[in-house]
Amino acid sequence: MVIGVLALQGDFQEHGHVLDGLGATWLEVRTSQDLERCGALIIPGGESTTMWKLMQNDGLDSLIKKCAQYGMPILGTCAGAILLSDSHLNLIDISVDRNAYGSQAQSFSTEIEIQGTHVPVEFIRAPKITRVGSNVRVLASESDDPVFVEQGNILAVTFHTETVDVDVLHQHFLGKYLSTISVQ
Ligand code: GLN
Repeated sequence: MVIGVLALQGDFQEHGHVLDGLGATWLEVRTSQDLERCGALIIPGGESTTMWKLMQNDGLDSLIKKCAQYGMPILGTCAGAILLSDSHLNLIDISVDRNAYGSQAQSFSTEIEIQGTHVPVEFIRAPKITRVGSNVRVLASESDDPVFVEQGNILAVTFHTETVDVDVLHQHFLGKYLSTISVQ
């Protein structure tokens, strides 16, 4: 099955590079027709406002919602997490505060523990998750702020690992849904 990477704007190529390293088959998603060929979707980092405008052009936003409701696994990173939150697609019961750490100058690198592994990550003009609904699991935090959350088939992280070419998050995403996605 094909993993779609939303390619309207943002760092979709870095996600593709990590997926290539894992031997996954992936496709750049720009239209509803592209998404129809995919069994999972990654929404990358970038500018959520721009992506939001572009995804409404041909009803891609509605199709993403429909696919999610039918169980499509979706991973949103940074701007992707903003788009999955209650202010946009509302596919995971979280609220976010955009650019909560400040401007580009306040972007930082750190390590996050994912499944017992310390993983180098980058927070780049990242949002903070300010509310987590009762059905949402917090899988990792940074200074008491949730940064990696999951609700059913939807995963959201406020950091980047693809920018430092680390594949633990993508392995987690693919591994979690291996029953529905076959990685070649
Ligand atoms: N600050 C961006 C936004 O609000 C997100 C930044 C990112 O994806 N690295 O959309």
